[in-house]
Amino acid sequence: MRLALTGGLIADGTGSEPTPGTVLVEGGRISAVLPPAEPVSEAEVIDATGNIVAPGFADLHSHADFSLGTSPGAESQLAQGVTTLVAGNCGWSPFPVTDLEPLRAGTAFLGAQKWSWTDLSGFAATLEPAVNLALQVGHCTLRIAAMGTAQRAPSPDELLLMQDLLRAAADQGAVGFSTGLIYAPGTYASPEEVAALVTTAAECGLLYSTHIRNEGAGLLTALDEAITAARSGGARLELSHLKAVGPSNHGLITTALEHLDQVDDVDLGWDAYPYTATNTTLTTRLPAWSLAGGALLDRLADPAERARIAEALRTDVLLSPDTVVIASLPPGRYDDCRGMSLTEIARRDGVDAAEIVLRILECHQAAVSVINHAMREEDVTAVLEHPRTAIASDGWIMDATGPGHPHPRNFGTFPRVLGHYGRDRGLFTPAEAIRRMTSLPASRLGLTDRGVIRRGAIADLVVLDPARIADKSTYDDPWQLSIGVEHVLVAGRPALTAGKPTGRRSGQVIA
Ligand SMILES: [Zn+2]
Repeated sequence: MRLALTGGLIADGTGSEPTPGTVLVEGGRISAVLPPAEPVSEAEVIDATGNIVAPGFADLHSHADFSLGTSPGAESQLAQGVTTLVAGNCGWSPFPVTDLEPLRAGTAFLGAQKWSWTDLSGFAATLEPAVNLALQVGHCTLRIAAMGTAQRAPSPDELLLMQDLLRAAADQGAVGFSTGLIYAPGTYASPEEVAALVTTAAECGLLYSTHIRNEGAGLLTALDEAITAARSGGARLELSHLKAVGPSNHGLITTALEHLDQVDDVDLGWDAYPYTATNTTLTTRLPAWSLAGGALLDRLADPAERARIAEALRTDVLLSPDTVVIASLPPGRYDDCRGMSLTEIARRDGVDAAEIVLRILECHQAAVSVINHAMREEDVTAVLEHPRTAIASDGWIMDATGPGHPHPRNFGTFPRVLGHYGRDRGLFTPAEAIRRMTSLPASRLGLTDRGVIRRGAIADLVVLDPARIADKSTYDDPWQLSIGVEHVLVAGRPALTAGKPTGRRSGQVIA
């Protein structure tokens, strides 16, 4: 099929001002970029008049590997213009798997997806996605495969096993290695353990993506841990969802950005999503020791242990119950509490916040996802304004409708940057916003034939209306697809036409 995208302004992904022209697509690639007056024959025409033609967006930070099996159509991504998802983030990947249960617990993965694989190749073979997928290997997953959820250092043999599994995944096409150093069991790893694995990752040519150990008061120390590991291992570093959380740490992000700007001996990048709330598991609120061995529910069943956890929640662990809202949970007693804050639920039950956290975890197999309104708007804006910030969602794939109160970032990240922050608040031009979603993330991944519009590049393309593009999903009413993306091509084939998914599955696993 020969396609001509005509009549639009071409934003080529480099940040250059959009120029009028025609993009010609053949055999899955861009075969020519023509001046507007040049006639095109024997091509199916996509009329882009009044619109911008851009490279498809690449989401450096997705958790789609845990939802792609049930939602391969990637509707929420196509409606945002996203054509490539980088998964395996925050220390969690669906491979290598030897024991499913701890992986299920750690990811708050509710079990809708059928599991039939052990390694990357096996997982990739089950996929037939509408968008491209690049896979990273997660440190939590590696650790579970090598040593379960024990709270201790690995033995030399266990560390070697993690490194072997990491090399095997790299051989099978992984593009990165990720850590999630707030999640059990990743949080049990010393900086030395992480550095050893980062060195192996770098030897395999992998990107090192990290959800750093502390995004609150310890932000700068945690950034330094990541930078030191990347420097000593010779790795390319991606700091995931850069932010400062918690009211007492608002403003710290400015210091962090200045600090990062001074690092000149590490290949360093970062990404962010355009929202002031995070989305994570409720168990991240608990003291790390309470999760060791995957035995949280057993500990909660023991009155003395339960009292110890409650005490820790009341005294040691930073818990702001007003700002923590239930997003999703498996069926159980607190079903009707989706969208409510911990404070509201505690008041209803006549108990304090620590007690309500434990009750909700007990009644829902500890698989509870929460939204935490923890950031300040000025801080989010400061990160977005920095020219080195790539746009990434930290989201899952969503269908058009569903249960629970998912974070709006799943539906709206990219249109919100183009619409709300770019057009409406004037943070950047469309060309610059598009650069942060295309050539910048592609360069972090080392991809040279995606993220730009030029002859020979793979024809992942998006046609969007710059006047209309907008996110519609909100915290109160999240199940709403974005608007303003008119057409999406994946490898030259229509994936979204006139705003509607075509149902074609043209995505590839990018190795
Ligand atoms: Zn994360």
